[in-house]
Amino acid sequence: MEKIFNHIDQHIEETIETLFKMVSQPSVSAQNYGFDKAPNLIKNILSDYGLNSQLLNTPNNGNPSIFGEFKSNSNKTLMFYTHYDVMPAEPLELWESDPFKPEKRGNKLYGRGMSDDKGNIAARLAAIKAFLDIENKLPTNLKFFIEGEEEIGSRNLLGLIETYKPILKADACIWEGGGVNMSGSPLIYIGLKGGLTIKMSVNKLSVDAHSSYSPILPSSIDRLTKAMNSMKNDLGQIIIEGFHDAIIDLNKEQREAINSLPDDTKEWEDKFGVKLLGNDLESIDDLNMKLYSEPTANVNSIQSGYNGPGMKSVVPAYAECKMDFRLVPNQNPAEIYEYIKKHLIKKGFSDIEIEPLHQIFPFRTDMNSDFLDLVKTSAFEIYNKKPLVTPNMAGSGPMYEFGGLLKMPICSAGVDHPTHNMHAPNENITIDDLSLGAKHIALIMKRFSEI
Ligand SMILES: [Zn+2]
Repeated sequence: MEKIFNHIDQHIEETIETLFKMVSQPSVSAQNYGFDKAPNLIKNILSDYGLNSQLLNTPNNGNPSIFGEFKSNSNKTLMFYTHYDVMPAEPLELWESDPFKPEKRGNKLYGRGMSDDKGNIAARLAAIKAFLDIENKLPTNLKFFIEGEEEIGSRNLLGLIETYKPILKADACIWEGGGVNMSGSPLIYIGLKGGLTIKMSVNKLSVDAHSSYSPILPSSIDRLTKAMNSMKNDLGQIIIEGFHDAIIDLNKEQREAINSLPDDTKEWEDKFGVKLLGNDLESIDDLNMKLYSEPTANVNSIQSGYNGPGMKSVVPAYAECKMDFRLVPNQNPAEIYEYIKKHLIKKGFSDIEIEPLHQIFPFRTDMNSDFLDLVKTSAFEIYNKKPLVTPNMAGSGPMYEFGGLLKMPICSAGVDHPTHNMHAPNENITIDDLSLGAKHIALIMKRFSEI
């Protein structure tokens, strides 16, 4: 692999040029900004790097995904999942340079998407180029999938994958993110929680009333908060009937993996200004287990009444809230939605209107997968530190679309570092992180052809 690694270092300027080309082209899915040009630019870049590339149409006129393929004489096919859409750059005044005019300052490269996720696209292309320049072929068949709507919840991905299933089949998938933690240990995650977001609303009066009428009028806020509170007991446990039924208990390996995750208690306490340990959570293991393995029911927002300056004494006619539920394997968001509806009726809240806003299935790769072993051992060789494996992240994402529908193991291996300011102003990447990410991908490609 020495030749391949040297090629990655010797051609790093070319990789940076490709990355800058992608970052210069805005592709902000939340604002529908830049999609007249971005899809074709990415498609052409894949072609320039030797892949057979095409745009995949997305249901509901969503932003197209880009698909690149390289056929080798291997019987193994590896998939890369990434995305070319980025988060909005706002607040712009906090950027030290234009988010869409990439800039190199010291050994850091700045711009929106520099790390998430155009940095990962560039790193993977650098690995591909190294093999094609030196060996004229890739060690494995490759499918490169680049989504255009990841940052807005991959809302059309399930439909897209169902349509293109035959061309998307592969034996394993490298996820869009991943990287190292503050101390440089590789972080590998192999699962994500699912999610269900709902809106609940109630309209008890035809018009806001003077609050002197409150003794004789019903309160929408009171009804709504009572409905929300009915979902949990005093210990904060979710008590919706059926909610937990499908959950599969963690096995020994998954528990051990969670219990060996680092202790971030201090960092979280400093960041959020609260004490986390005490009461029912006694140790970091309790915290991590709760964070990574349990489903959640969380209120995102409540809107009702008058929230402007001064005061206004009213009985508001209307109240609404949004709630998100993070789900763990094998919970099904559509079933969970039905359980919530039934719960509200059973508890006497048939006056509450409910509507689903977003749903995503959970997914977790088997801890005993050969593919995970390979990604772990190759991470250790590249980063020289023992990798940490998370059976599933606390967050959600479209892993089920690949792992569940296309039935393949998924591991993360990326360029991320906690200092990259992903989703925030001054997003950046170091040249080192880019190069290490590319080498890790190259080593995975090589080893994958050998298992
Ligand atoms: Zn992101």
